[in-house]
Amino acid sequence: MNETGFYDLPDELKMLQETVRRFMEREVRPAEDKAPYDAYTLPDDVLAALRVKARGAGLWNVQTPAEYGGAGLSLLGQCVVAEEAAKCRMGAYIAACGAFGFDPPNVIFKGSREQIEKYALPTVETGEKTFVAISEPGGGADPARAITTRAERKGDRYVINGTKLWITGAGQSRWGILFARTGPDKGRAGITSFIVEIDRPGLTISPIRVIRSYSPYELNFQDYEVPVEDRLGEEGEGFKLAESWLVHERMPYAAGTIGVAQAALDLALAWARERKTFGQPLADRQAIQWMVADSEVELRAARLLVYQAASRADLGHDVKIDASVCKLHGTETAGRVVDRCIQILGGMGVAAEMPLERWYRELRIKRIGEGPSEVHRMVIARDLLGTRLKAA
Ligand SMILES: Cc1cc2nc3c(=O)[nH]c(=O)nc-3n(C[C@H](O)[C@H](O)[C@H](O)COP(=O)(O)OP(=O)(O)OC[C@H]3O[C@@H](n4cnc5c(N)ncnc54)[C@H](O)[C@@H]3O)c2cc1C
Repeated sequence: MNETGFYDLPDELKMLQETVRRFMEREVRPAEDKAPYDAYTLPDDVLAALRVKARGAGLWNVQTPAEYGGAGLSLLGQCVVAEEAAKCRMGAYIAACGAFGFDPPNVIFKGSREQIEKYALPTVETGEKTFVAISEPGGGADPARAITTRAERKGDRYVINGTKLWITGAGQSRWGILFARTGPDKGRAGITSFIVEIDRPGLTISPIRVIRSYSPYELNFQDYEVPVEDRLGEEGEGFKLAESWLVHERMPYAAGTIGVAQAALDLALAWARERKTFGQPLADRQAIQWMVADSEVELRAARLLVYQAASRADLGHDVKIDASVCKLHGTETAGRVVDRCIQILGGMGVAAEMPLERWYRELRIKRIGEGPSEVHRMVIARDLLGTRLKAA
């Protein structure tokens, strides 16, 4: 709250917001305009030049603590960046077209000094991708029950067998974090996390064609060996270790979808002012006005929910419910807004020369990833009703 009683960003975050806005406008979007429409990466030399500038602007690995080479932003700051950085054709997943680097999964910083030095630090330096492998063919919404990938200790190694599905970024990564079962009958307490390298024997990966233009991957582990020193935390601690990180991830995730939807609304507003039908601009039609008004209202509310959740997290509160609220509301709102914007543009809304149809496809996934909408509704309802699922 500021002194007028309205929620407002602190001055330093307004400056950060402006910095990212300008960077996107002057550097990222012009570079992206030269890339093919459905590209999910920029040419190496173009990306490298952008990254040098991003580092100079203090926009490198914004989720990574400063002591490990990142920008070390507060969660609220991360959300501000995520919203602005999603305002490009590549949208929320490839924020700023990769110009800010890809933060390693934050849970790695709970690992040993050796693990941080061997895996996290080089990744922060290069800005390369990593992956997180939780979901399996047997299910992703309820991973504590669905994970069947086994990690069996044999002397100084674990032998991994099983299949992971839908794993984003695995085909472009050197390493990632795997959740596997070390205790077969212990629910979430039987799950342990490991750092896994893609290039070791016993792992095959294959892309899965989905609604968006870049693929997630299937990972097949067959007698794949992980040295004990690459176990993250203790046996059975996998979920506990990752929990607060996974909860916190949901806020920048929601913020990114809001950024995409805001970009879509801006585009639709400009279109509605210009486009004439039946002798008048679309902007003069009530049907169009209501669509843009509803979109504005919903986006403002979604943004405030993100700001509130992130601010509470920065103050050290337990934000499990706040994170579910803003992830659910943000992703569903963004999908609705982009859908309306497509309607406002008519045929051009679904044409490949506009980014809307691409954002529409991308946002559809956002209601499934990072906990599907139904699971977040369940979490919120359980909290309200004081009921719990049978503990897994
Ligand atoms: C493009 C893409 C990228 C992904 N990237 C990753 C990744 O990088 N790493 C990773 O680990 N996973 C990833 N996922 C997997 C994603 O997290 C799962 O798809 C998601 O958790 C849902 O799991 P599921 O698909 O197995 O659906 P299921 O668990 O089978 O659920 C099916 C449907 O039923 C609903 N449902 C489930 N339980 C309930 C209930 N109790 N009440 C009401 N409805 C319910 C779910 O919400 C869902 O809509 C990705 C998925 C996609 C599509």
